[in-house]
Amino acid sequence: MDFVECTCPYCFEQVEMELDPMTSGSFVHDCAVCCNPWQVHVHRDADGDISVDVQRAQD
Ligand SMILES: [Zn+2]
Repeated sequence: MDFVECTCPYCFEQVEMELDPMTSGSFVHDCAVCCNPWQVHVHRDADGDISVDVQRAQD
C-alpha cells in the first residue's frame, strides 16, 4: 500500500490516505475525520512518484 498525506478541503485536517498500488485516476473518498466526500485525482508518473489532488466533491 502507498500512503499519501492529504489536507481535507472541508475540515482542513491532515489525513493519511491508503492507496492500493493499482489506484490511479479519479475517485470519491470520504474524509476519515468529517466524512465529507473528496474528489480525489491520483497521478503516478513513470518513476512511481504519486501526486494527489483533493477537492470537494460537492459544495
Ligand atoms: Zn474532513
